[in-house]
Amino acid sequence: MKFKYTDYHVHTRWSHDIKEFGPAFEEYIKVAEKNKINICFLDHYELHYIENDKNYPFYGDGKINQYLEKVDKLKENFEFVFSGLEVDYYIDREMELWEFMDDYRKQIDFIAGTLHETEVGYPVTTREKLLELLRKKKIKDIVDEYFELMERLINSKIFKNICHLDTIFRYLNPKDFKPTLDCDISDERVLNLGRLCIENRISIEYNLSGIKYPIARSFPSKPVIKQLNKEGARIFVGSDSHSVNYFRTRIQKVKKAYKFLKKN
Ligand SMILES: [Zn+2]
Ligand SMILES: [Zn+2]
Repeated sequence: MKFKYTDYHVHTRWSHDIKEFGPAFEEYIKVAEKNKINICFLDHYELHYIENDKNYPFYGDGKINQYLEKVDKLKENFEFVFSGLEVDYYIDREMELWEFMDDYRKQIDFIAGTLHETEVGYPVTTREKLLELLRKKKIKDIVDEYFELMERLINSKIFKNICHLDTIFRYLNPKDFKPTLDCDISDERVLNLGRLCIENRISIEYNLSGIKYPIARSFPSKPVIKQLNKEGARIFVGSDSHSVNYFRTRIQKVKKAYKFLKKN
């Protein structure tokens, strides 16, 4: 049976930012079924690490097929489960990403494009790596580069769905690493990315994960997503869970988010 609402963003031990014996598909499925919510496994898929990092779960050839076999098998028994991937965008690898999409579009229920690195090897979503990056680059330049790359990602049209439009603010915000005054951190800037998605008929994620950081808000923020919703955006909700316990505590919030979008 399928349920009314879907959490489109759930990570398992197939994601590098989760420990080896982290959550398995089955553990999430149990909780999802009990709480009547569909789940989409959206594990990280980053070309650079797949090729260079032996500890990366998708490192080497053919792992993706193993992953899909496992999820597909579960899908036979649980109709409320979707296969998915959170695929990183690289400005200089668009051809490869297109090829990947051509090969897997039909085999995977939900592929979302994402941007974690303005410079390969320095994810802005990892505190320590961001600190390293800040030692060699100005905050303004990092933020500007992020928005430029996001625009390129959207305009490339490689992806039909895009995760956390403004995740650059996870740590770079007035409550954490304070942006310098020359930094444009306005809502308008995020709205414009969202509008570009609307023009290109790309779905935008309402990512609830920011609540657990000092910034204490979703990505994008509630007012921004409300405005984009009004302007006709297609929106999917994701908890961005990296553990089953966290997922469990987010289910009601995910359902509430869909209700909020419907009302506003
Ligand atoms: Zn992400
Ligand atoms: Zn994620």
